[in-house]
Amino acid sequence: MKKTKFILPVLAMLFIASCSDSEDNAPLEPITKKEVPLAVIEKLQTAYFSTSNAFLTTYEGKSVVAVEDMFLTLEEIDELAEKFSNSEGVQRRHYTTNNLVNIPNNGTRTLIVDLTSNGLGRLGVRALNRAINQYNRQGLDLRLRRRQAGEGVNDIDIRVTVFQEQPDPIRNTITLGRSAGFPRNGNPAPSFGINSVAINLLNTTRNELSRTMAHEIGHAIGFRHTDFRTRESCPSRADEGGAGVGAVYVDGSPTGSDTNSLMQACAGGNTNPNQLFNANDRRAFRRVY
Ligand SMILES: [Zn+2]
Repeated sequence: MKKTKFILPVLAMLFIASCSDSEDNAPLEPITKKEVPLAVIEKLQTAYFSTSNAFLTTYEGKSVVAVEDMFLTLEEIDELAEKFSNSEGVQRRHYTTNNLVNIPNNGTRTLIVDLTSNGLGRLGVRALNRAINQYNRQGLDLRLRRRQAGEGVNDIDIRVTVFQEQPDPIRNTITLGRSAGFPRNGNPAPSFGINSVAINLLNTTRNELSRTMAHEIGHAIGFRHTDFRTRESCPSRADEGGAGVGAVYVDGSPTGSDTNSLMQACAGGNTNPNQLFNANDRRAFRRVY
């Protein structure tokens, strides 16, 4: 999620996903920024991503592109570009990718979501608990829980990691969190990360952080931004990708931007502490899961 605060300076937060090694307290990962090759930019635009803030970096030892609030490997970018280059399946409602988490027929599936670092302290634990609870209150066939006794880092389906990314000095924005892409092979994206620099700089509250975490979980299970066409929730309103296709809409959900949606590209002031999912989100998530 890009989170924005309309204060001086305007700080738009993104999220990073980081996978951790086998340690329970993975080190914080400093993010460096390099230019993205033009050929890769073109592929991202084919898949309807906003590339204005994209940069090349390293994440968990892999070369990745940070685009919107995601880390995508070059392989994932190739796959997404290929999928969207034939403009399939874009006439329905709302904002899923074609990649979803597999659910057994007539069953449910529970994903383990947990922190791999103590870098967020109690704030991180409380925010994650709240995000998980909010998902589980939606009555989906996809359930979430934290690790239980005897389960290790390798048992986690969606790891929550901590990275350190400095603000963008030109746009006066900072990324709060990033997901490691979308589901692949029927499984969720392996992780999302939270930027501890942004947490400190913005004095992020538990509710804000839980919203960010819930948003990144949304990406990890296959949802794109509600306002991917316009990014009208963001200060710059940069086009996220082009001419009106690029996501598979979920029937019954709005075709345009949805100000209160959990899956807005940038979060403004709408952070109802009791309800992360608005009515459209609930409808869309229930249709899909
Ligand atoms: Zn997002």
